[in-house]
Amino acid sequence: MVKLNSHPAGRHFLQIPGPSTVPDRILRAMDYPTIDHRGPEFQALGKKVLANIGKIFQTANPVVIYPASGTGAWEAALVNTLSPGDTVLMYETGHFATLWKKMADKLGIKPEFIGDDWRRGADAAKIEARLAADTEHKIKAVCVVHNETSTGVTSDIAAVRRAIDRAGHPALLLVDTISSLGSIDYRHDEWGVDVTVGGSQKGLMLPPGLSFNAVSSKAIAASRQAGLPKAYWGWDDILEANKNGFWPYTPATNLLYGLSEACDMLLEEGLQNVFARHQRHAAATRAAVEAWGMEVLCQNPAEYSGVLTGVVMPKDASGQYYNADAFRKTVLENFNMSLGQGLTKLSGWVFRIGHLGDFNDLTLMGTLAGVEMGFEVAGIPHRKGGVLAAMQYLTATSPQGRRAETLAKAA
Ligand code: PLP
Repeated sequence: MVKLNSHPAGRHFLQIPGPSTVPDRILRAMDYPTIDHRGPEFQALGKKVLANIGKIFQTANPVVIYPASGTGAWEAALVNTLSPGDTVLMYETGHFATLWKKMADKLGIKPEFIGDDWRRGADAAKIEARLAADTEHKIKAVCVVHNETSTGVTSDIAAVRRAIDRAGHPALLLVDTISSLGSIDYRHDEWGVDVTVGGSQKGLMLPPGLSFNAVSSKAIAASRQAGLPKAYWGWDDILEANKNGFWPYTPATNLLYGLSEACDMLLEEGLQNVFARHQRHAAATRAAVEAWGMEVLCQNPAEYSGVLTGVVMPKDASGQYYNADAFRKTVLENFNMSLGQGLTKLSGWVFRIGHLGDFNDLTLMGTLAGVEMGFEVAGIPHRKGGVLAAMQYLTATSPQGRRAETLAKAA
């Protein structure tokens, strides 16, 4: 049992879908004295992170970096582009899409909330139909969460872009990539996104505390007309100071050291390799869930998330779900592993396995072993062999195995 006032041996498994485990290389990179944020050493750091973060968003456009959690960057995306009373089309994919919609309400924007399926992604056809009906172009922006962290469902943003174009509608496209950035393929420029919102604590492997707005030139033009009050969040002063590698306020210097290292790590591995690694671990996780005889929350295989897997608890003889939170407590107390809880509508009957960030095959095996042992200890009915199924998937798809196969063919 893990006692909160004692040091548990071994490392904690932080398998929630973010914050993800911060690798030593990033911890070491942040462990430096804070420097003068107006001096030449900082300027070199600022220029480097501003150049490299764009590569992660796959954009040549500016990326605004805030010392704030993702919620701050949500607000920045809205207040920079919209005016009081503007109508925005927001798509309900889960808990986080709902929170963003509630924020829009509080800011005096008028969100139209469409869709209500927490087991599927945003339906581009529904967005197209709504925009086509808006002949007066009252809708000023379409807001979609790329990877809905509460459910493990990834929406097809390229399809949403095509839907907006087919409807011939001028609305801006605002996308939340807080849990997909640096983990799932995401192309700000190619997909014609106007504002992409990101966060530091998931695919970027950093502690919480930084967030981002990647902005198109159309979004910058909109920000010059937008009437919602903004001061701290305003892009204009930040973009001006960024030209020289600085910020108009005291930046989060040590998190920027970490960001510089995180970008290096992702670019060294190669973004496409990072994305493939996440998809492979997600597929192995689903193999385990299937072998346990349980259900993945996401109902559309084309939308399975590479970052996390939502798992539906089995039901008992009376048709009640076994309690997901009691199960997570058992896993934490017995195996020192945190799993993600089911949020709002999913509370009590869904848990989430995070497989993102600084994560490899053995991290996944430890994670899935903790889940399977947790089922046993908590008395949750399941078929044995989930870990074995994942192990078989991983060995069958091991990069080394494939390389060996290629070498054998070449010989
Ligand atoms: N959007 C998504 C998809 C998220 O996963 C989260 C947090 O987990 C947020 C928004 C809110 O970000 P933060 O908690 O960093 O403010």
